[in-house]
This record gives sequence, C-alpha cells and structure tokens, in this order.
Amino acid sequence: MSAPAFAASSEPLTIIGGGLVGSLLALYLARRGHQVAIYERRPDPRYQEAAEGRSINLALSDRGWRALEGIGVQDDVRRVALPLYKRAMHSIDGQLTYQAYGRENQAIYSVSRDGLNRTLLDLAEAHPNITLHFNQRCLEVDLHQRQLTMRDTTTQQTHVLTYHRLFGTDGAFSAVRGAMQKTERFNYSQSYLEYGYKELQIVAGTAGKWQLDKEALHIWPRGQYMMIALPNLDGSFNCTLFFPYEGETSFAALQTPAQVQAFFERVFPDAVPLMPNLLPEFAQHPTSSLVTVRCYPWSYQGEVVLIGDASHAIVPFYGQGMNAGFEDCTVLDQLLTEFAGDWDTVFAEFQRRRKPDADAMADLAVYNFQEMRDRVADPRFLLQKKIESKISAQYPDQWLPLYSQVTFSHTPYAEALANGTRQEQIMQRLMPLIHTEADYDTPAVQALVQQEMAQLA
Ligand code: FAD
Repeated sequence: MSAPAFAASSEPLTIIGGGLVGSLLALYLARRGHQVAIYERRPDPRYQEAAEGRSINLALSDRGWRALEGIGVQDDVRRVALPLYKRAMHSIDGQLTYQAYGRENQAIYSVSRDGLNRTLLDLAEAHPNITLHFNQRCLEVDLHQRQLTMRDTTTQQTHVLTYHRLFGTDGAFSAVRGAMQKTERFNYSQSYLEYGYKELQIVAGTAGKWQLDKEALHIWPRGQYMMIALPNLDGSFNCTLFFPYEGETSFAALQTPAQVQAFFERVFPDAVPLMPNLLPEFAQHPTSSLVTVRCYPWSYQGEVVLIGDASHAIVPFYGQGMNAGFEDCTVLDQLLTEFAGDWDTVFAEFQRRRKPDADAMADLAVYNFQEMRDRVADPRFLLQKKIESKISAQYPDQWLPLYSQVTFSHTPYAEALANGTRQEQIMQRLMPLIHTEADYDTPAVQALVQQEMAQLA
C-alpha cells in the first residue's frame, strides 16, 4: 500500500458496515493517521463459505479502479478480475450479437464481491490503525448522546458504545440512516421495482473451461425480463435472472420444477444445457428485491455521514452501485485534503457535491434496465449505437457515448446524464436518415452531423 502522506491525527473514527465501501473507506481514513474501528453485523467472510445463491460477481469499472488505485490495491484486484470487452446478446433461436462496450481494449471487469471484500478486509486487518469487529450489529444510534447500541450476534448480548465521529456504510437498509430519518427535515424515499432477481449458475466445462465467451457480459434480453451472466475465474458463470414478481410470466407463475424447466427451455434454450443445477438452484436460491433509495441530508452536524448504498442504493443495471460508493471514498478523501480536517465543511461539501450525481446515477440505472432487457435486441437500437461510435470516432473531443462517460470516465454522473440526454436528442434527429451503417457517410447525413456538432460546441 502507498505510504501515508498525511499528518498523523489521533481522532478515533467509527464505521458501521464492513462491506465493500466500509472496508475501502477505512483504508482511506487510516492512512491519514486516524484510528478506525469497523463494526460489521456478519461473521468474518474470510472464514465463511459464500452464502448459497448469494455469490454475486460485480462489474468494476474506471471509477472503482481509481478508488482502488488511491490506496494502491489495484494490482491485487486486477489479478483476480476478468476483463469484459463487450455485451453478447443471445437471441431466442441461439443467435449471438455483440456490442463493444467502448473503444478497443476498454473493458469492465468481473470481480467476485466476496473476493473483493476479503481482499479489502485483509488489507484493513494488516493496517495498524484499523480494528475489525465482526458479529456486531448496530441496533440503534443515539445522535444526541453519540452512542451506539450494538448486539453481539454470537452471544446476543447488547452493549453501548460511544463514538466520536461516525460513518454509516451499512448498505441499503442502513441503521445509521434509520436514526437520521428521525431528525427534522430529513428527506427519504425508497422505491422497489416490480422485479426480483435470482442467482443461478452456468457450470465450468471440462478442465475448468468457460462454456461461453469469457470476455463478454452475456445477456438474454426477452423484452419484459432478462438473464445475464458474468464469468468467474474457475470457468463458471454467475447468472442473474431479473424477472417480474407477479403476472403471467413471473416468479409467481413458475411454481413447479416442470414449469421452470419448460420455461427455461423455451426462452433460454442455449443456456439450459449449461445449467445442470437449474432446478435445485431455482428452488433453493432466494428471490431478492431491487430497490432505489434516495435521502438527504447525508450528514448530521459534522459528526455522522452516510456513504455508499446507505445514502444512495440503486438498481444494478448500469453496474455502478459499488463503483459509485468507491467514488464516494475518492471524493471524501479529496475533500479531506482540500479542507484539512475541517469535518463540518468536508461533510457539507461531500453531500452537496455528490447528491446530484447519486440522483443521476439512480435514474440512469433504472433506464438501463429497459435498454438491457429490451432495446439491445432491437436491430435499430444496435445500429444507432454503431452510428454513435462513428460520431465519437469522428469527433472524439465532442462526443463520448453516454455508456462510456458513465463507465470509462470520471465525468460527474449528473454531467454525464445531461450530455447523454443532449446526444439522444441529436440521434433522434439523425436516425430517420439512416438505414444502414454506410448511410453515415452520405452527404446528407454528414451535413446534418456537422450542423449538430457545431451547435453542440
Ligand atoms: P453493502 O455491500 O450492502 O455493505 C453493507 C455492509 O454493512 C454489509 O456487510 C452488512 O452486513 C453491514 N451491515 C448492514 N447493517 C448493519 C448493521 N445494522 N450493523 C452492522 N453492520 C451492518 N455494483 C457495481 O458497481 N457493479 C455491479 O456490477 C453491481 N452488480 C450488482 C448486482 C446485484 C444483483 C446487486 C444487488 C447489486 C449490484 N451492485 C453492483 C451494487 C453493489 O453491490 C452495491 O452498490 C455495493 O455492495 C454497496 O456497498 P456498500 O458497502 O455501500 O453496501
């Protein structure tokens, strides 16, 4: 890890939640000289098998990498990450269509959530300023007395702790946020999709070989629902079925093994032979919900702050929840440098700068669900994406596709969304003139593109 370049400070800091964001945040704070204590509700994941059906892998992209680079752990993570250069769309008749994510060599990376959490916890444990406390569930936060009521989940004993400064990185159902919700003028909303998700698996082939292209994120877009698959290092793929809870085609409608088998064979025929454990997995793995959480303010009197999913849980369709939480750590760290330990200002600035970005990312994530489950199967949509790449190649300084701005840049999310909206309006004007890729080079289209670019400048 990079050497600490900050003046030592002995202010003790308390973090609730030792997940991805909490463990990374601890490393950032500890290298500034703070004593950091992490309290995590679950047992230490380094000594546990991943819970059945919860072994999610995540797409890590540039914002996440930058945060990992900030504490010098990018190489450790890169060794266990698989680059995905493209989407591979599987049609119902087994046809494959590819769509590159970005320019040549640009990739998102499939990493195991558990593996990444373990790596960060190993680093945290090795840091002399960090102490880890597992099986410690925060039940209540008394914001006035600065006290936490904790339950040891092994003994069921409760005890009270006093904090000096508190960081809530306890995820979408944050207990720290729960306490803040009871303060005056705290805004809060949660919104569930009508869809749930279930984790399934495509097994490794003989000798641990991947049975699908391991350099792609695989999508089976089916209009109102979809399945996706990301590769693991051992040759398997984690699949996630995003599916309505209720209705004619829904979890509720698939009640028996025969119904599940028949449905999968009908709609995902090329995947079924690769999923020998489909039926037991479908029956045993939980169906989980998809929530967007928005709230404000994120801080309380310069003493408490919410970071990561605790302040902005989003649906997973842009692959940005963790990346956004990691970017929170980068931004907070920059502010700590900028405002030299003035926590009041740091927290106030942090929420002021990040809230519009978190809101934009939440909107983009919901939008991308429709794109992934539906629009990627539409040849007109894929043509539009190809034309956008051509514009981007012709005007590299003026046009970066929205997906690239979100995934391969550090442009604030809110700015990316605004740029993307303008670009979409331009595409709506161009596409009626375009029926094949070659049409892009016709004088009429080139003239219109030039005119649009002049206005965009
Ligand atoms: P969490 O990971 O939820 O961690 C919170 C931690 O706090 C947990 O360890 C929890 O046990 C602990 N905790 C909770 N309550 C308490 C308490 N009361 N006391 C003590 N400890 C507590 N993001 C991406 O960037 N890319 C992806 O491809 C991606 N795919 C996803 C796919 C799915 C299906 C889902 C559901 C999410 C996906 N995400 C993805 C989002 C990503 O998982 C989250 O944004 C990320 O995990 C947030 O990290 P966090 O540390 O803020 O919260």
